[in-house]
Amino acid sequence: DYNPKIANVVTDSRKIQENDCYIAIKGENFDGNDFIEQAINNKASVILSNRQSSNKEVITVEDTVIALGSIAKNYLMQFDIKKLAVTGSSGKTTTKDMLYYVFNEHFSTHRTDGNYNNEIGLPLTALNIDKGYEAAIFEMGMSALGEIDYLAQIVRPNIAIITNIGSCHIEILKSQENIFKAKMEISNYLNNDDYLIVNGDDKYLTSLSENEYKFNLIKYGFGEECQLRASDYKAVDGQSEFWVTGMGINRRFTLPAIGLHNVSNALSAIAAGLIYKIPTEKIQAGLMKFQPSKLRMQILEKNNIKYINDSYNANPESMEAVITSFESYARGRKIAILGDMLELGEFSVAAHERIGRLASEKFDLVFFIGSQMKHAFDNFSTDENTDKRKYHFIDNNIAIEEIKRIIKYGDTILLKGSRGMKLDEIFSALTDDNMEG
Ligand code: ADP
Repeated sequence: DYNPKIANVVTDSRKIQENDCYIAIKGENFDGNDFIEQAINNKASVILSNRQSSNKEVITVEDTVIALGSIAKNYLMQFDIKKLAVTGSSGKTTTKDMLYYVFNEHFSTHRTDGNYNNEIGLPLTALNIDKGYEAAIFEMGMSALGEIDYLAQIVRPNIAIITNIGSCHIEILKSQENIFKAKMEISNYLNNDDYLIVNGDDKYLTSLSENEYKFNLIKYGFGEECQLRASDYKAVDGQSEFWVTGMGINRRFTLPAIGLHNVSNALSAIAAGLIYKIPTEKIQAGLMKFQPSKLRMQILEKNNIKYINDSYNANPESMEAVITSFESYARGRKIAILGDMLELGEFSVAAHERIGRLASEKFDLVFFIGSQMKHAFDNFSTDENTDKRKYHFIDNNIAIEEIKRIIKYGDTILLKGSRGMKLDEIFSALTDDNMEG
């Protein structure tokens, strides 16, 4: 009988070491099943593949991704730990990280690495848990109905968090109503003592009512009806200060990140911490350890120009969130460099038009970049009585030359757009040491 030891479960054929279980998965560019021989040479003890093989290590299964999921699910079941899961259209990674810092102050905590949030990354995250941990935080991403349900049945979280219902993936899901349904799947396996924590300022999530569910429901946000409410938001020296009321507390918090959306993300982490009775001083201490990731609300002062670089990604909700809270940390001329919000399909024109109108309330000068931002440009009103100005570019390099000519000492500049628009290139060009002026 073959009775193998398993050190680690890996799906990357380049990382196989002695006694690992290699799960061969067919990806976009490579088919893991082509590396069975390499896995045997590297002394993998078990190999899951959808191909037949006479090697004793190889177990043939129909679908290796499903096999990975059930291994992770069974593995997780042996641990009695607190499991938290986060989904939402934006703010997943930020919230996951804030939760991690808050929980790790009080419990030994494991978290999703980066954004390993799909049907492969999530099981791998689960398989990295071991006896030392008391809590685990999982990020869950999706692009279609049923995907979050699949991830939730692996994790069976005790606390599920939904940050917002946006319009990403609307091309596949057709309506925001469907996106709402898809995100709600995170609550499918919650039991009576478990909690669903949602953003009460979100137009869909605010409509949820506790009476309809067997689990507990907590809403957080700035609205009056939220159980955990933030108020008196101030941005001071790159940090946010705000007051939090509800769930038995009433105190000020400081967060080393700016923007109302980050306060909202922090509220969900505070709510989860309070449910598990983490003392508020520890919650505050944990939040102070949070570091915004690169390209997410990164602040840089260069030549006395203040840049707020949020060029990591954009969708209508995150764009609106960032534009709305811009004035709380701006000084001098209020300037934005806004790139297209991609993948919005038939909703794109209206979404960009709306951003154009919002931008004209908030900025003195906007550089619109990309074909879709032309619709925003057209809706940005430059009233003759004001000094408001607007520009539109298709090409980043041409934009860079013009922007360099126009910006000056004392300005505050926001950069925001979808990842594909590469606004980080513009950011680098503007903040490069060689820039004159
Ligand atoms: P995700 O993991 O869901 O892609 P991130 O945490 O990486 O989200 O944040 C990506 C961007 O989304 C941020 O730079 C910010 O602009 C925006 N964002 C973050 N949190 C929120 C929120 N609660 N509401 C709206 N936009 C948000």
